[in-house]
Amino acid sequence: MAGTVMPSPIRVEEDEAENIERIRELKNERGDSLIILAHHYQRMGVHACGDVVGDSYHLCKAAAHTDKARDIVFCGVRFMVTSAATLCREDQIVYHPDRNAGCPMADMANLPQVRTSWKELGEVVETAKVVPVVYMNSDLDLKAFCGERGGIVCTSSNAGKVFDWCFERGEKIFFFPDEHLGRNTANKYGIARDQIVLWDPKLPKGGLSDEQIANSKVILWKGYCHVHTRFSVEMIEKVRAEHEGIKVIVHPECTEQTVAAADFSGSTGFIQNYVENTMKPGDKVAIGTEVNMIHRLSVEYPDRLVIPLVRSLCPNMFKISTGDLRDCLENLDTWEPVTPDPAEKAFAKTALDNMLACAG
Ligand code: SF4
Repeated sequence: MAGTVMPSPIRVEEDEAENIERIRELKNERGDSLIILAHHYQRMGVHACGDVVGDSYHLCKAAAHTDKARDIVFCGVRFMVTSAATLCREDQIVYHPDRNAGCPMADMANLPQVRTSWKELGEVVETAKVVPVVYMNSDLDLKAFCGERGGIVCTSSNAGKVFDWCFERGEKIFFFPDEHLGRNTANKYGIARDQIVLWDPKLPKGGLSDEQIANSKVILWKGYCHVHTRFSVEMIEKVRAEHEGIKVIVHPECTEQTVAAADFSGSTGFIQNYVENTMKPGDKVAIGTEVNMIHRLSVEYPDRLVIPLVRSLCPNMFKISTGDLRDCLENLDTWEPVTPDPAEKAFAKTALDNMLACAG
């Protein structure tokens, strides 16, 4: 049969089963005082240890609303963990099993650059009428920047609602650091193409004319996720040629061309729900997102074909192993907690609370 593509197995550490057993023991010992949050992109073994699993929005919501747990261990990348540490109660402690797990996209915008850009925007338009929106995938100081200026945090699962929230409060959106989530959301929202402009922070006034800035409704920061911009229209055409009747879902961090060519686009929560609840046995789907999630879904639902458009791995999400999680739990009493800078925390919390309130 032409081109039956099965996901290649992800490397499983030999001592994985032993680590998982030990993690479960440690969890039982601590009972309700401990909660483990795990992002959908975590390796299968780590994901299996999560008390709550989901996308960054749902995990942050869980951190904000968990009542019994005192200790929150977050298996994800740094921006998720600092957000959880900002949203949780004062008596709760958040831990990250590997503090080196960051995000290259989050690093594409820093506070001095954003401040300079905001000032330059203010030379052309009234910034009081511009709502700053920062993607969850960003450092805490940028969330604080938004909170201080009446802005909001968005995720890929609530971006449309965040646009509604912004246009009730202002005339323009300044969206950073992911160009593609911003563009795909603006396209879906029906904003005219010439009113969506790209701000290059390396150029004066983002490389835009005063007229382009004044005419814009959505100003997008030039940043991207290398895991998702890898997917292309050609890959979609190829998988459709190889698998008759296959559906294609991609994440909104993909380019607008890739999103337009796919059948559906949505957050990891949307993708999980599609495979779990929309697909029937025998159905086929090719997915354009991080490969560990796709591999896990293919194992959990063996009666349907779930394959990656192409294998695209996030090396930062991959950093946390069951060995790291076990190590963290075995040494929790001395593990260094994640403590947000108090100067950033209050305003960052405002932007995160706006997100939670607007999405319900
Ligand atoms: S998948 Fe992309 S956006 Fe998510 S953590 Fe990895 S690099 Fe960052």
